Amino acid sequence: MDHCHTSDLISLEQAREKLLVQTVPLTCRETLNLTESAGRITATDIISPINVPSFDNSAMDGYAIRLADLHDKQTLPVAGKALAGAPFQGAWPAGSCIRIMTGAPVPPGTDAVVMQEHTEVTETGIRFTHPVKSGQNIRTIGEDITQNSVVLPKGTQLSTAQLPLLASLGIATVDVVRKLKVALFSTGDELQAIGKPLQAGQIYDTNRFAIRLMLEKLGCEIIDLGVIRDDPNTLRQTFIDADKHADLVISSGGVSVGEADYTKQVLDEVGKISFWKLAIKPGKPFAFGQLEHAWFCGLPGNPVSAVLTFYQLVQPLIAHLSGFTAWQPPMRLTAKTTTPLKKSPGRLDFQRGMASLNAQGELAVQTTGHQGSHIFSSYSLGNCFIVLERERGHVAIGETVQIEFFNHLLKNQ
Ligand code: AMP
Ligand code: MG
Repeated sequence: MDHCHTSDLISLEQAREKLLVQTVPLTCRETLNLTESAGRITATDIISPINVPSFDNSAMDGYAIRLADLHDKQTLPVAGKALAGAPFQGAWPAGSCIRIMTGAPVPPGTDAVVMQEHTEVTETGIRFTHPVKSGQNIRTIGEDITQNSVVLPKGTQLSTAQLPLLASLGIATVDVVRKLKVALFSTGDELQAIGKPLQAGQIYDTNRFAIRLMLEKLGCEIIDLGVIRDDPNTLRQTFIDADKHADLVISSGGVSVGEADYTKQVLDEVGKISFWKLAIKPGKPFAFGQLEHAWFCGLPGNPVSAVLTFYQLVQPLIAHLSGFTAWQPPMRLTAKTTTPLKKSPGRLDFQRGMASLNAQGELAVQTTGHQGSHIFSSYSLGNCFIVLERERGHVAIGETVQIEFFNHLLKNQ
């Protein structure tokens, strides 16, 4: 049961707004070869050094013609050949056509290229069997990209949709924002490293592993500081050290109100907390603020909450800090639930669900089952979040809900 007063909790949108308004993107940049720059963010506008296409060329295999030559006859002798990489050279006699292949430069004076399928070979030359329009089948210089135009604005993330474009312009290196340095640690006396046997009362450190995976997918440079014991002095020193080396410090655990929850108390001493209670479920205790140099995010201890708050809040923060300007909140789609969903009003709820198309081709979603913030299997059974509005109560079968499909942070595609 949720006994807290929800009026002093800030909404997800307010929290995202604060994260973005209060932080400043990195300005350091580095120059990389195109082959090393996948996933990186452009630090400047990228300007095209050339026109694309860089010369007028043929879009078809066929014949280059001058319209004036076709005025009184429909058949022209072939005066030469133009191939991709081997232009027609020499003089083009009046009253003739040039055999031309796709991608070949059109000879100067060409009015149109006639596709082979619209011609016939006759004894006296090529007969043109269809009406010809000026300019047809010619790809004109600069039609795709003009020289000196901005091909990609600053703040673009480079991937397969962008990098081949730069390759087609002959661009070999690109200025990108340097990688964000993120220091990461878990807190908790109960945490044991993966691979070691559990002693009484211990649990494995799920969060650091989960957060590492997501940071890797976001292309961050990771400083892994391991598990920090529930001791205020150690915790204080860890924050102070992490602050010296990182742009962003992420901890998990210790941000609620238990006896060994020192994270918030220490953050209050060594930093400035901007907010720490959110009207979302799971993930109410999430602390964000500033250390002397770095930003920090204190994630909740429960693994479901740690991953959810990272996904919904740290993801846009990292995008912003890394200079990625086009980040958009996850797209929400409408689906009908085929199972009842338990919910009490007060917080925006991110339940885990499995969505699919039903026989009518509509989106349908069902719960993954137990939604406790310690039930990590709910992620592995699901493919989306079911996003239930703050004031909503229980949801019955057949009601409409909103869903967000998991992105690459939670799955491979
Ligand atoms: P805390 O916020 O530190 O009180 O943690 C809340 C719950 O999350 C407790 O049950 C912790 O044992 C658990 N927890 C904290 N950190 C981790 C972690 N790194 N991995 C798995 N569970 C954790
Ligand atoms: Mg703890």
